Amino acid sequence: MKITFPHMGNAYIGAKAVIEDCGIEVIVPPKCSKKTLELGTKYSPETICLPLKINIGNYIESIKKGADTIIITGSTGPCRFGLYSVVEEEILRDLGYDVKFLVIDAFEKNDNSLLNQFSKLKSKQKINVLTSFLKGKKIIIMADRLTTLSNRKRAYTNNKREIDKIMDDYRDQIYHSKGSNKIIEIIKKTNEKLLSIKEDNTKDVLEIGIVGEIFTVIEPFVNLEVERKLGYFDVLVHRYHSPSTWIENHMSIKALFGGSLEREILKEARKYFKTLVGGHGRETVGSSIMYAKKKYDGIIQIYPFGCMPEIVAASVLPSVSKEYNIPIMTLIVDEMTGEAGYITRIEAFVDLLRKRKEQVNNGKIVSRS
Ligand code: SF4
Repeated sequence: MKITFPHMGNAYIGAKAVIEDCGIEVIVPPKCSKKTLELGTKYSPETICLPLKINIGNYIESIKKGADTIIITGSTGPCRFGLYSVVEEEILRDLGYDVKFLVIDAFEKNDNSLLNQFSKLKSKQKINVLTSFLKGKKIIIMADRLTTLSNRKRAYTNNKREIDKIMDDYRDQIYHSKGSNKIIEIIKKTNEKLLSIKEDNTKDVLEIGIVGEIFTVIEPFVNLEVERKLGYFDVLVHRYHSPSTWIENHMSIKALFGGSLEREILKEARKYFKTLVGGHGRETVGSSIMYAKKKYDGIIQIYPFGCMPEIVAASVLPSVSKEYNIPIMTLIVDEMTGEAGYITRIEAFVDLLRKRKEQVNNGKIVSRS
């Protein structure tokens, strides 16, 4: 068995470690690229949302390297994601690929569900899998913290290219490593390198909250490396979504009761939503309110063209912007998104926020309450 999975931010680092520790070969899909997107776009329904197209591209690239089994998370609720595994399996079958899908879904009862496969293991194997899973969770948390640190360093240092170099080297090393111990060692060494980069604390750094559809927000290729780009404009970004928060909210003891931050965010959104809207539409609105209350300088919502939950959230955000007196910009991405126009919009938004901050500091406009 050779397992692969779609790219989703730092999730691949933990998944690779867990599966390799279980003694199974992993084929990590090549870093998402134009080629991945072209493959996915070619073989997916035209109007389906972008994440599915990228998934298909990832799978085809991994299958060509020998993968025969795909792991993907499942979902319920009013959003297309719940159907991803079914649609993706059909697309690959139509293309003539004979691959097996394992779906991580608490509610899935069929033979393909990971829970079902897990229940068939012997006790000792179950303990091994659980131990590896906990290690994988720890690695994902460490990898997300490293990304946060790199974003902070990029915003505050004058040597921004050095941060890119450290992070690019780190990703290369992860690709060529094997097993959780090696991965932990690489993360720790990279952390030390980042910490050694000098910060210029005289910089006027802006703080922006990134909200939106989870895949778009956490997968750098899909959001055109928005965090990196903002770092180059001396902006410190924060995002609620990450593989660690996803695990915390769906696969932990806390998940049974709702993680405390998630509870807080959903409580903020309750004023606008009385029911589920699918995906993370409520979290987008709730975390926007949270950023406004924490006095961030601005918010950027990013989502793929046609994403229903985020369209609903986008219709609410102007009210949030008005009520909490915070600028919010929405960026919609698809396979046609051009980088030049995207950078221009980000640059203009950052200019606006900087001007606004000056005016707030000079008392020319009323500060957020
Ligand atoms: S959240 Fe949006 S982009 Fe993601 S699967 Fe659902 S509809 Fe598609």
